[in-house]
Amino acid sequence: MSDASLSDANDHAAHDIESEPVDNPRHFRGLVYPHGEQTPHPGQMMAMADGVFWMRMGLPISLDHINLYILDDNEGWAIVDTGMNTDSCRAQWEAMFTGPLAGRPITRVICTHFHPDHLGLAGWLCEKFNVSLWIPRTEYLLARTLMLDASDRVPEAAVTFYEQAGWSAQALEMMKARGWGQFAKAAWPLPHSYQRIKAGDVLTIGKAIWRVVVGNGHSPEHACLVCDEKQLMISGDQVLPRITSNVSVFSNEPNGNPLQDWFESLDRLRTLSDDLLVLPAHNEPFRNLHARVDQLHADHQDKLAKLTAHLHEPRTAMECFSVLFRRPVSAGQMGIATGEALAHLRYLEERGTVKRLTDLPQHRFVAA
Ligand SMILES: [Zn+2]
Repeated sequence: MSDASLSDANDHAAHDIESEPVDNPRHFRGLVYPHGEQTPHPGQMMAMADGVFWMRMGLPISLDHINLYILDDNEGWAIVDTGMNTDSCRAQWEAMFTGPLAGRPITRVICTHFHPDHLGLAGWLCEKFNVSLWIPRTEYLLARTLMLDASDRVPEAAVTFYEQAGWSAQALEMMKARGWGQFAKAAWPLPHSYQRIKAGDVLTIGKAIWRVVVGNGHSPEHACLVCDEKQLMISGDQVLPRITSNVSVFSNEPNGNPLQDWFESLDRLRTLSDDLLVLPAHNEPFRNLHARVDQLHADHQDKLAKLTAHLHEPRTAMECFSVLFRRPVSAGQMGIATGEALAHLRYLEERGTVKRLTDLPQHRFVAA
């Protein structure tokens, strides 16, 4: 499988990467990184607390790694998130099983959400160790649906969706030529049944108690795990340092308002303790959760303000890229950039500050 097709399949998980220089590895932009730039070596894991370990898996996409967490579960290990369905990711797991994880079984696989870098090898791990997948219901069902949704033919509604967003005839032809449903390639088939986790659940993993805190907007029912006693939060992609999680409208829910969901989730994260050490899926563990939540909120509000000013005359979603993204959008990033632009436009549309003109095949938005 080529990297290009993996990138497509992983579109849902793409992020807007901040690439500013780091002066002090432990303190940067209001956040504290207790381990600085130290990361686990390949095939090894780093203790974050008693019974909580961090491992890093290399990925064959622009976001070149994911952090996975291994929890002591009495007789064995519970795994949180899995990497993508590639030979390289499976080989990295095999090195763990003959290395630091050797001698004790895997007890369960927990997934924060359905994106392939998180769930791609969940089915493989569950099969290999005959254990259950623990995941929120919407995430499980969406992943199962996307696996079934592979076809050579792109649905007409999806073509219309991107045409309305302003894609050129050439870009639409390229999308049609690629076919539909790359997700199935990036994720191993999921088990027939699963163990549901939901907001407010309390999981006993080994000797530790973990609360399930659910967020929305990046994915529909994203699970974070909070251990109050250890003052830890496994945050998945719901809150990341340095990079902004993608919040997108996709063609399967063209009138969704995921940015509203995202803002509401940020409000919920603000109710958690500011003393938590946040263990994110990308980049390094950090403190100052509330400061990060405020930054993410401000970043989106800034984009909304710029967008509103930009819409003094009617523009398509594509014509909004220049005010939303720091760098030019490549052909491979078109889908995710369109989704992100539409998330901001839909939010403003719902608030009544912009309206949509539908007199042309391309929908245009203008300040109301
Ligand atoms: Zn994600």
